[in-house]
Amino acid sequence: MSIAIKRKGMLLIISGPSGAGKGTLCKMLLENDKSFAFSCSVTTREPREGEVEGFDYRFISEAEFQRMIDYDELLEYATVHGHLYGTPKREIDEALAQKKNVLLDIDSQGAMSVMNKTQEYVSVFVIAPSFEELRKRLEKRNAERPDEIERRLNNAYGEIRKVGMYHYVVVNDDVDRAFRELTCIVNAEKQRTVRFLPTIEED
Ligand code: 5GP
Repeated sequence: MSIAIKRKGMLLIISGPSGAGKGTLCKMLLENDKSFAFSCSVTTREPREGEVEGFDYRFISEAEFQRMIDYDELLEYATVHGHLYGTPKREIDEALAQKKNVLLDIDSQGAMSVMNKTQEYVSVFVIAPSFEELRKRLEKRNAERPDEIERRLNNAYGEIRKVGMYHYVVVNDDVDRAFRELTCIVNAEKQRTVRFLPTIEED
């Protein structure tokens, strides 16, 4: 008799208000853990300086976004800060079929849609230690106009109210500590029997 190990990929949802630092934590996870594939979203917002097409996002027109909705190509989509964002299904299915883990950096509306569609996900909510800190980080990032910063801060109140819908929360007051916490969550979740199932097989 031998032991066969059946592995299944994990769908990891990471949400949190703009400026909480979830983008940085996602990048750190992808660099440090090669078992993860990033789910590259489609969006109708303009690229920011330095963003790479097909890596950060696929930047598409509203007409193309609508086409993807019509052809049922999106696992979820939502309007966030006035722009459309969506998660293409195909890449996720392909990655999970290859037993990869898949990382979704999506807002709480999108996260709720995924949670309603499947039981098989792990969800983490990242928060900054305070609203003052959120504002400071958004201003320092210098990527948004002042009205856009206000819009993102207002949205943060609504986002944070949904924290109880997630499995885990990480407070990002120190990025290295926050990353260690995220790694602990991810590593424990990898060992769950739904994803890592040793079974005895007759030789
Ligand atoms: P940003 O414009 O700063 O890149 O992202 C704004 C927000 O949109 C972030 O909270 C991010 O997590 C969210 N987001 C990015 N991609 C998706 C997606 O495919 N679906 C949903 N629902 N939200 C997304």
